[in-house]
Amino acid sequence: MIDRHTLLNFEVDGEKIPLIDYSRGIRNPRQLQATLSIVSSADGPYGDAFIEEGVWRYDFRTGGPGGDNAKLIEANRIGAPLIMFRKLRRNVYQAIYPVWVAQVNRREQYVAIALDDLVEVAQHSASPIEKRYAESITKRRVHQPAFRAMVLRAYETRCTVCRFAHAELLDAAHIVPDAEAGGDADVTNGMTMCKIHHAAYDQNFLGVSPDYVVHINKNLLVEKDGPMLKHGLQEMHGLSITLPRTKAERPNRDRLAARFEAFSAV
Ligand SMILES: [Zn+2]
Repeated sequence: MIDRHTLLNFEVDGEKIPLIDYSRGIRNPRQLQATLSIVSSADGPYGDAFIEEGVWRYDFRTGGPGGDNAKLIEANRIGAPLIMFRKLRRNVYQAIYPVWVAQVNRREQYVAIALDDLVEVAQHSASPIEKRYAESITKRRVHQPAFRAMVLRAYETRCTVCRFAHAELLDAAHIVPDAEAGGDADVTNGMTMCKIHHAAYDQNFLGVSPDYVVHINKNLLVEKDGPMLKHGLQEMHGLSITLPRTKAERPNRDRLAARFEAFSAV
């Protein structure tokens, strides 16, 4: 648990950077492109609550998509993690990190905050109350919105096949599908793909071999049609996918191999 005084007087290299805002439930430091932290409290003026297991609703502050909310939306766009401070009682907070702005609902004016794996919080919490709280959250499965946020961030919001870079048209594609064994929501079971390449991957028009090379279905390769087929698919054949910089986030080769077998069988 952390007290309010510590959060307000937090320093980085001698420079004071409060981790929470003095009066608001959101902290948007001038120096940062996206929101640093939000404070969630069940008795606050905003209606934040669980939407589903592991996903928190955090209402927009007044002012619509501009103002304070702009940096929350930005955190969603770039897949930046933030800290959620859960207010346990007056002046006492628990830090939950990282959490992700998994979804922006402009119509109903809220964002969905997805909690990441909290095992560590449970392990490192000192008091029994904190421990129980963290464990109760750990049990809630997050993971779809967090999966998308993690995968898009790992691939720097670009399609791994064609480098297309608009989040609105990007998906986190599963390598081993969700429902199958091994298809868990781990970043190494995902690749960021644009809508067309994701659909092509799911239909086995496009495959990715375990050595990270794009393959196009052989019948499709000889077909003659318009620019989507030619530039969007045929010209991708034989190219290497763009990998996450962080090695630990790269696609799992065993899963790629399993999936590539299904592609090759077509
Ligand atoms: Zn693409």
